[in-house]
Amino acid sequence: MARLNSNYFKLKAGYLFPEIGRRVKAFTDANPADAARMIRCGIGDVTEPLPAAVRAAMHAAVDEMGARESFRGYGPEQGYEFLRRAIAENDYRARGIEVADDEIFVSDGSKCDCGNILDIFGHDNRIAVMDPVYPVYVDTNVMAGHTGAGDEAGLYDGLVYLPCTAENGFVATVPHERADIIYLCYPNNPTGATATRAQLAAWVDYALANDAVILFDAAYEAYIGDPEIPHSIYEIPGARKCAVEFRSFSKNGGFTGVRCAFTVVPKDLVCADASGEYRPLHPLWNRRFSTKFNGVGYVTQRAAEALYSPGGKSEVAALIGHYMGNAAILLEAVRACGLAVYGGTNAPYIWVRGPQGLTSWEIFDKVLTGANVVVTPGSGFGPAGEGYFRISSFNTRENALEVSARLRALAW
Ligand SMILES: *Cc1c(COP(=O)(O)O)cnc(C)c1O
Repeated sequence: MARLNSNYFKLKAGYLFPEIGRRVKAFTDANPADAARMIRCGIGDVTEPLPAAVRAAMHAAVDEMGARESFRGYGPEQGYEFLRRAIAENDYRARGIEVADDEIFVSDGSKCDCGNILDIFGHDNRIAVMDPVYPVYVDTNVMAGHTGAGDEAGLYDGLVYLPCTAENGFVATVPHERADIIYLCYPNNPTGATATRAQLAAWVDYALANDAVILFDAAYEAYIGDPEIPHSIYEIPGARKCAVEFRSFSKNGGFTGVRCAFTVVPKDLVCADASGEYRPLHPLWNRRFSTKFNGVGYVTQRAAEALYSPGGKSEVAALIGHYMGNAAILLEAVRACGLAVYGGTNAPYIWVRGPQGLTSWEIFDKVLTGANVVVTPGSGFGPAGEGYFRISSFNTRENALEVSARLRALAW
């Protein structure tokens, strides 16, 4: 008898975004006049078109594919050397960080990488996640059978939760209990918080002392403007021995629809096997790529490479400037409403403490009905998000200004 992976039934099946959609639809059905006014600041997807440098590179690559002499079939599973070198050179070595070209693994997205990385770890690790959290880290562990059942609040037995609150500046502090694999995401989605060098160093020390591995999601590193804030976990001494880093072209190059990302697995990173012998992770991840993946398309890899050209770099800077300009407008509006607000200075997300006594969903409804603006309820990212909501600055300038005016006009 064929059997299902019953772990899937433990999932709190996609509650957040479907519920937002349901509430928005119920409201617009009942108030058709307001439907056209609705502005979405909920989902974390970019809005601005692809850089010209990227489009030119894609057109040229398509033409190469159209001629027998320059046609490409299967490429290296781990990515073409031209892209791995551009990444290692520009994102790491130019910043004084030691990363070799063949420690870069090019993929079709960080979401996939965050989930797929579990393939190379055992099933008896204690997994630590932040609360609130990007749901992918939790759900992929549930699917892999690394947790017990979930409760009403969405907490799963067997996971170590690291509360991120206003008190700790939304930066997870090292736990007193054991954790073997720790997911960290800075700049953070959903809170927009960043971690300082000292805070990341505390995690690296913890990981080295406990033979733990940090899975560091740096999807938003391009939004860091403060020169003191690390862009990479490898800026911390010792991190090459304890951390994997995920990066994506989704939020810097606007590649959410193009699909390209990469993972860094340093060759110095070792983990114990079942017999307690230390072995490197790099060959396992390499093997996983060769066996289960056939590489990202050539046209897409040329597109990603173009982000590192002088033209591409200045267009990426302009995109980040655009979204961070929105963030500044929205931050100021929320402050003018008298609400406590976090993030939005080195990250595209603004994390707002709603009026006392209101739940995240009550605030969501108030903003939906009162301002016709869709935000994301903080409790959807975990119980520590209760009472908060997230505003995304991924929008047109026109919408950001309009949202700012409507939030200011709302009776908080
Ligand atoms: C958007 C995002 C990513 C990037 O995902 P892709 O699959 O590369 O588009 C990764 N992590 C977080 C926390 C994100 O918000």
